Amino acid sequence: MVKRDNWQLGRQMEYPYEGPPPRKQVAYIFDANKCIACQTCTLACKTAWTSGKGQETMFWNNVETKPYGGYPQGWDTRLLEKQEPARWRGKVLASKTIFEHGNPLDPPTGHKPAFTDYAAPNLGEDDVSASVAPGTHFNGVHDAWMYYLPRICNHCDSPACLAACPRKAIYKRPEDGIVLIDQERCRGYQECVSACPYKKTFFNMVSRTSEKCIGCYPRVEQGEVALCVESCIGKIRMHGFLTTQAPPREDNPLDYLIKIRKVALPLYPQFGTGPNVYYIPPLHVATGILEQMFGPGVDEAKRQYLAAKEDKQLLGAMILFGSQNRIVERFEVQGDEVVGWSGAGEEVTRVPFTEPVHLRASYDAAREVYRHNTT
Ligand code: SF4
Ligand code: SF4
Repeated sequence: MVKRDNWQLGRQMEYPYEGPPPRKQVAYIFDANKCIACQTCTLACKTAWTSGKGQETMFWNNVETKPYGGYPQGWDTRLLEKQEPARWRGKVLASKTIFEHGNPLDPPTGHKPAFTDYAAPNLGEDDVSASVAPGTHFNGVHDAWMYYLPRICNHCDSPACLAACPRKAIYKRPEDGIVLIDQERCRGYQECVSACPYKKTFFNMVSRTSEKCIGCYPRVEQGEVALCVESCIGKIRMHGFLTTQAPPREDNPLDYLIKIRKVALPLYPQFGTGPNVYYIPPLHVATGILEQMFGPGVDEAKRQYLAAKEDKQLLGAMILFGSQNRIVERFEVQGDEVVGWSGAGEEVTRVPFTEPVHLRASYDAAREVYRHNTT
């Protein structure tokens, strides 16, 4: 075991392997206030990557309803029951991660889902946390709540799947931190399936190997965002890179939103893997339950999110969500627009703060037809 820095925990933690951080780390922000569970992302991923034999129950991207939904069923609650409750002293985790229990040679704390846990991807969809009185209207935080949680592999800083693999078949790419399974080396022991706290490796019963989200690496190598990001109807997703070997940059939208403004938070940071999908927490859900899912920064993140309408820099970074299919590595607010550039310095997006409104006459005299202004 070695000690590794885990910035999400505010401390070092034990992990089986040493290794420098990747040159940059692929990362995503999902705005949980905006997801409508249309599952376009799920289908985009499924049709592109997991439509083959043995992949029927594989959803590298899934969208579940919290609090009751989960795919595979109970992926998080079962691990939460095995772990002591997360204890934070300020921003420092005082409880143990999944790597810090028992014998250092033991695999990370985890569980292997049963076959039936993969049977109902949308169980619990749209179920709320309590019954809602008729006539109840929104007035801020809801007593009864639900929200949609889109999930993909987190391409973790310290992946539990990689730590658990006895074949060393799982590796993290030094150029961008994407975590992959070498299909030639994998023997299907499924230790990664048990170890991943997010249950984002899946066993293929035809090939007899484990498979997982590949971070759309062929697209990333071309400077394009992942398919789940490009296809997102709600424009809730941003895909880019975190700076790893230098201080966070104000002009990198991911660094800015995650590390500088802290408006987006990791999912279950207490597990200790350093997940790299960051969520803007849903405003209408009480902070207490959200702190169990996203750690101690929830109130601060909600405050920042609400302040964005008065803060051009913050709003500028946020209106880049879904504005283009290229990865933005640098952005700048220029007057009433925000501009984004690729890693190669090419301008790839320019978004106005206020969309222009075009009004058309309802009657088109040239064609002698009435028109609606809704299309
Ligand atoms: S989310 Fe799971 S599968 Fe993905 S890198 Fe982390 S531990 Fe591995
Ligand atoms: S496409 Fe976007 S809005 Fe639709 S379910 Fe996926 S993340 Fe949510």
